Amino acid sequence: MNYADDNFIKEVSSTHIQWEQMEEFSKLCKEGKAISGISEEEFDFLLQDLANDKLTYSNDSVIDMIIKFILEGTSEEKLINILQNLKIANVDKEDIVGTAYPKYIDGSYYIEIGSDIEKRVRLLSDVFAVLFMFNEKLEDLEYMVLCSLSEATQNRYCANEEFTDDFNNVQIYMMLCDGLYKDNFTDRYIAYAREIHEMAMAFLIGHEIGHHYYGNTTVKPNPGMESKVAELKADAFALDFSFKYLRNAYANNENFYGIHCFAGVYLPLIASAKICKSVFEDEENHPSIVKRLLGVQRGMQKILTETGWEDTKRYRDLLLRMVKFPLQTS
Ligand SMILES: [Zn+2]
Repeated sequence: MNYADDNFIKEVSSTHIQWEQMEEFSKLCKEGKAISGISEEEFDFLLQDLANDKLTYSNDSVIDMIIKFILEGTSEEKLINILQNLKIANVDKEDIVGTAYPKYIDGSYYIEIGSDIEKRVRLLSDVFAVLFMFNEKLEDLEYMVLCSLSEATQNRYCANEEFTDDFNNVQIYMMLCDGLYKDNFTDRYIAYAREIHEMAMAFLIGHEIGHHYYGNTTVKPNPGMESKVAELKADAFALDFSFKYLRNAYANNENFYGIHCFAGVYLPLIASAKICKSVFEDEENHPSIVKRLLGVQRGMQKILTETGWEDTKRYRDLLLRMVKFPLQTS
């Protein structure tokens, strides 16, 4: 067994991300610090399901789902070969966003995604989802709850804390709304958050897969400009990869997609601002976050209609303000 498999198996056996999250959540529910909204019996079933869930490509069921959908819808051999031999581990290492390792002797492609960025992206998806709920048909009380939810999710993201008291309180109001109006308020919100999160994760892993695709892991780009160009190319690949996922997973008759899905691809870059020194300055081998955001924006312009593009920009800017992303140097 080579290093890739060894490492992968170790990481996967130690963590199944969703299972770990559910176990933590279950513990908090039992201590009265969080609410699940389902019975203890149902919760135990859910945990058991996750415990039995064997993943093929990663230790994160969202990542596995993304790869499966892309594999189903692509006929490009080079991409298929990479995806079929992909091992992605969610690892608890400091300061890691993502790393693509050189291809291993057995032909496998190994990628590591930092659990910190995964968590931040997830919390940020919850912030972003609130914005799109304002377009929904809602009762007056639901609007008020949504305003509180907006604040609670922002605090949660800023503190990088999953379970906060105010978030817990808002969930009670959401459950109240569900009971009062029977209009699936909470479910609609969760659907937005889930779809945004999936698109964000597709971009996050798509970037690292792009490094494999362009051979950056075999022939390392020279430090400086060449590396920076490789990063921007990996972002462009990630954008394309995300839309492949969107088409394969959510295609309907009209091929109509919510703007929240398109804007979801911005999230990994916005969230990585929290772990970099400056969003404006290039690092030795990485263009600044701001430059990379602009690169994604340009890529979106080629994919979307004029109004669709304006919409994604508007939502992205709202999100940047919500999370106090520094838009100007002081
Ligand atoms: Zn990169």
